[in-house]
Amino acid sequence: MKLLKEKVMTEGIVLGDQVLKVDSFLNHQMDPVLMREVGSEFKRRFAGEGVTKVLTIESSGIAPAIMTALELGVPMIFARKHKSLTLKEDILVEKVYSFTKRETNEITVSKKFLHPEDRVLIIDDFLANGEAAFGLARIVEQVGASVAGIGIVIEKSFQPGARLLEEAGYRLDSLVRIASLEDGTVTFVEEVH
Ligand code: 5GP
Repeated sequence: MKLLKEKVMTEGIVLGDQVLKVDSFLNHQMDPVLMREVGSEFKRRFAGEGVTKVLTIESSGIAPAIMTALELGVPMIFARKHKSLTLKEDILVEKVYSFTKRETNEITVSKKFLHPEDRVLIIDDFLANGEAAFGLARIVEQVGASVAGIGIVIEKSFQPGARLLEEAGYRLDSLVRIASLEDGTVTFVEEVH
């Protein structure tokens, strides 16, 4: 994804050796043209997987997830990080430790939107330790549905999430993969696609 890489290089701000701030196009202000490309790229990569639902976690996963769902022609669900007062019906709950906020959230999804026959594509903005992706996968598996794949916009390959998800048997596909953020510089993993 050339456009995404360019955006990361020109607008990404490296915070320490671990965190990339991309609030000008993904985490605060969002770039709709880029999000549309992200959606069509995920569609291309996961088209053969029989996806019936796209699942993400609020808030930064919503934009890439909705564009992917639009392209695949399926609904998108986002897990809530805070319990909604209107969410009174049966809910699925999992604990997820937040990499950026350094706190554990209970994420929730209403049972009425996930069914055992669903093939769920999990989408998120970043992959670090895999906490968010594993939490979403556990939600899917709680109802007996299957994870069709995990699509990540920006994978930080130097952190353990990618390896752990692959070892757990999930199909992981990341649009850009970062090998290092050392010395304030973004270094990408060699392109394989
Ligand atoms: P994980 O759950 O894989 O440890 O971390 C992924 C989650 O933490 C994502 O949902 C994302 O919101 C946040 N995150 C992790 N690393 C970064 C980062 O370098 N930059 C930003 N902006 N968010 C991150």
